[in-house]
Amino acid sequence: MQVFDKARGAGGRLATRRFEWIQENGSEGRARLDHGAIGFAARSAAFQHFVVEMQSQGLITPWHPALAPQSLPLEQDVPLYVVSPEMPLLCKHLLAGVQTHWSFALDRLTREDAGWRLQAGEQRHPDTFDAVVLAIPPAQAAPLLNGLRDDWARFASLIPMQPGWTLMGVAREDEAQGSEWTLARPELGPLAWVIRNDRRPGRVADPGHAHWVVHARAGWSRLNLEQDAGWVKHQLCTALEVFLGHEVRWAHAVVHRWRYALPPLGRTPSHPLPPAPQHWWDQRLGLGVCGDLFTGTGIEGVEGAYLSAMALVQDLQQPVTADLAASTDAL
Ligand SMILES: Cc1cc2nc3c(=O)[nH]c(=O)nc-3n(C[C@H](O)[C@H](O)[C@H](O)COP(=O)(O)OP(=O)(O)OC[C@H]3O[C@@H](n4cnc5c(N)ncnc54)[C@H](O)[C@@H]3O)c2cc1C
Repeated sequence: MQVFDKARGAGGRLATRRFEWIQENGSEGRARLDHGAIGFAARSAAFQHFVVEMQSQGLITPWHPALAPQSLPLEQDVPLYVVSPEMPLLCKHLLAGVQTHWSFALDRLTREDAGWRLQAGEQRHPDTFDAVVLAIPPAQAAPLLNGLRDDWARFASLIPMQPGWTLMGVAREDEAQGSEWTLARPELGPLAWVIRNDRRPGRVADPGHAHWVVHARAGWSRLNLEQDAGWVKHQLCTALEVFLGHEVRWAHAVVHRWRYALPPLGRTPSHPLPPAPQHWWDQRLGLGVCGDLFTGTGIEGVEGAYLSAMALVQDLQQPVTADLAASTDAL
């Protein structure tokens, strides 16, 4: 098996940004901020089993966030988990021993008699493959599926993934401003989530500093998706100050735009899933799709992506019986 990813490293939306900057006193500041998935639930027996196994290896930690007094309550009625000390470590762990290719933005998939060929721009990978699985957001999968499985491509292109702007940064903090909470769901305004990242399990405390990760609401993000990053940063910094009720003295802060953060919550009649599949698999072609696009009925996000992938793995273990020449003719 080989894994190709357009990113520079493992993790996908289980993301942690490492950044460095020069502090006021001339020394170098460093921080790691989890700007993707906030945490994840384990509702199904299969994912609970996986979480327990990863917990026993010290990779996953339960997180019982202390809510800010002015926060809405959490909707989750089950524990949340985080990867320690940073979110991408789970994928790095699972990829141990696997041949990986980073910065490979797959934009062409073709079937030849010898099997599948992968191409990223001018770069054509020399190997051919019996089977290809796309484990990527639906909007990114759709163009690759065009001409191979038009029915899947059409469906994937119709899933309106929620975008998200995220502000992350390190701020100087006086003792007097200190509060004990870790997580907030503001009731009003552009912010959906406010997180004290340095207080999450396995993160390093930074005395005199607060590490903030702030996710804007999907609606606000959609409205301002193409805005200049500087403008977005200003808006989100202001919204954070309004929420906290005091000035935030940033040492360093940046914003990140997630074009495809999460699938829509709940299915609307205009975007129904086909009845009950947790993945797509075409045995004849040796082509599959999995990911969090197949979730939405109480099992979401990371757990949904895991279950979808595991269901596809079961199908993959069946031998590919495709008559490659016949399949190629059909494309
Ligand atoms: C801000 C934010 C908050 C979230 N909060 C939560 C939460 O609280 N709980 C929860 O359960 N989930 C949450 N999620 C969602 C969760 O992160 C995803 O559901 C999960 O990570 C999906 O995993 P995946 O493997 O399907 O896709 P991804 O993690 O998106 O991985 C896809 C990978 O494919 C790569 N890729 C894409 N296109 C190509 C291409 N053409 N060629 C090569 N590589 C490509 C990408 O670089 C990426 O590494 C959140 C996500 C975001 C962004």
